[in-house]
Amino acid sequence: MKIIKKKSKLKELLYSLSKQKIGFVPTMGSLHAGHISLIKASKCRCDITICSIYVNPTQFNSQKDLRNYPIEIKKDVKLLKKNHCDILFVPNDFELYENNLKRSEFDLNNLDKFMEGEHRPGHFQGVATVVTKLFKIVNPDIAFFGEKDLQQLTIIKHISKESELKIVSVPTEREKNGLALSSRNKLLTKDSFNSAKIIFKSLCYCRDYINTYDIVTLKNHVIKLFEKSVFNLEYIEFVNVKTMHPTEKTCDNLAICIAANTENVRLIDNIIINAKETN
Ligand code: AMP
Repeated sequence: MKIIKKKSKLKELLYSLSKQKIGFVPTMGSLHAGHISLIKASKCRCDITICSIYVNPTQFNSQKDLRNYPIEIKKDVKLLKKNHCDILFVPNDFELYENNLKRSEFDLNNLDKFMEGEHRPGHFQGVATVVTKLFKIVNPDIAFFGEKDLQQLTIIKHISKESELKIVSVPTEREKNGLALSSRNKLLTKDSFNSAKIIFKSLCYCRDYINTYDIVTLKNHVIKLFEKSVFNLEYIEFVNVKTMHPTEKTCDNLAICIAANTENVRLIDNIIINAKETN
């Protein structure tokens, strides 16, 4: 695996690889089996797989969250080599932003109005800023994103819709107790890791009873469940995957999304119900 820090070097290398199908997996590192499923999806469909690791300051709306974000680059390199990633791009702030570490403003078509967009102001503008910069440097044929970050996935599809680039989504990898794999899980204590299964359990409950109870009743049930947990429920929303707007009526392309936090660790998860594939 080639490890590259400079965008000029990466561009040079990619120029020499033209005509090959390039798959790209952008990450913030502290890699786990969820990230590796994206690498594997890319290896299946592309000739060359590039992973980037960059903890993007402009998508953090809390400096404390940014400072606490886990960094384990040596372990990441080992894991990527083991899984036959071809190129790892690890730029620093200057390579991506030069002296202007700021978000750009994108028209996100109100896809960022609710849930993560509402609870983390500016987050998706920061994501769109860095992903656009990375796409410009890597110029991939296909970029791979996890369903775990569903609102992000919808927003990336939206900002890429005029380009040739194909966005492929990959299902969420989970722990045995159902908890979605996340770099932030490393920040949980043993007890809160155990309690975190309430998130997936609540999502499964809503999925299983979607045809039995109405959405308001399901949401109230989940709110009650969380009252007994160490996790604070930030939101539970039933949304249309296309618009990322909450709905109180079941529809095609429905997803159930939860955000919850404990001891300064914030987790998100979702389940997609009967979504029609748009890739
Ligand atoms: P991150 O490093 O958190 O920015 O995530 C990088 C990519 O990995 C994003 O496209 C995420 O949606 C994806 N990802 C994160 N966790 C998982 C998971 N548990 N299963 C599948 N993909 C994931």
